[in-house]
Amino acid sequence: MRIAGFQPLSLLDFPERPCAVVFTQGCPLRCPFCHNPGLIPNGPGKMRADEVLSELERHANTVAAVCVTGGEPTVQPDLPAFLRLLKLRGFAVKLDTNGVHPRMVARLLSDRLVDYVAMDFKHRWSAYAGLTKAAAPAVEHIRRTFSLLQQSGVPHEFRTTVVPAFHTAEDLERMAVELAPGTSWAWQPVRYGITYDPNLPKGEMPPLEEIRSRILAAHPDLSITIRR
Ligand code: SF4
Repeated sequence: MRIAGFQPLSLLDFPERPCAVVFTQGCPLRCPFCHNPGLIPNGPGKMRADEVLSELERHANTVAAVCVTGGEPTVQPDLPAFLRLLKLRGFAVKLDTNGVHPRMVARLLSDRLVDYVAMDFKHRWSAYAGLTKAAAPAVEHIRRTFSLLQQSGVPHEFRTTVVPAFHTAEDLERMAVELAPGTSWAWQPVRYGITYDPNLPKGEMPPLEEIRSRILAAHPDLSITIRR
């Protein structure tokens, strides 16, 4: 595993329980609003898997869950083996993914190596490539993961970083149509500061509460959370 970093305690990265966070190195997308651009290049990483496991053992009294995030964890071929080591030690595992590797996600789901998955749902499909610089096959792969997860029965959520320069109310309304009833959808207003595109255009955030109410009136079975 190419691991960029380890955070022993987070109260935000696993639903309703404290967790440790493992950051993996390397991501094939180029989201302009990415707030972790240092994790994008395919570098060797800074920690070995056994060092992370030792750290986890040291903190086993405070955390029983691990969030594996990126970069993009699913592009690493030894991810299943790493997650199996976490499961063998009794940790609940959450995976954060952008969805570029449906075969890997399918394997993790069928081998029961993940307890929760958070997948990015960055935009309408027709705008995906332009936003993320993903090549056409990558967008198809992301769509496959999106469907797979919705049919999986494994607890999951979709997440959208809302960027005024790229997302309108209509975009969010059209994205809602893609979600199955009962789906959890989290919106996170963009954080400016360090971003992959240092010239990320700023703008006025659309009225998220209002848009949420409108979407929920049309899709009452969705659960939409705004995370500030
Ligand atoms: S925000 Fe985009 S570029 Fe950054 S790690 Fe996530 S998917 Fe990759």
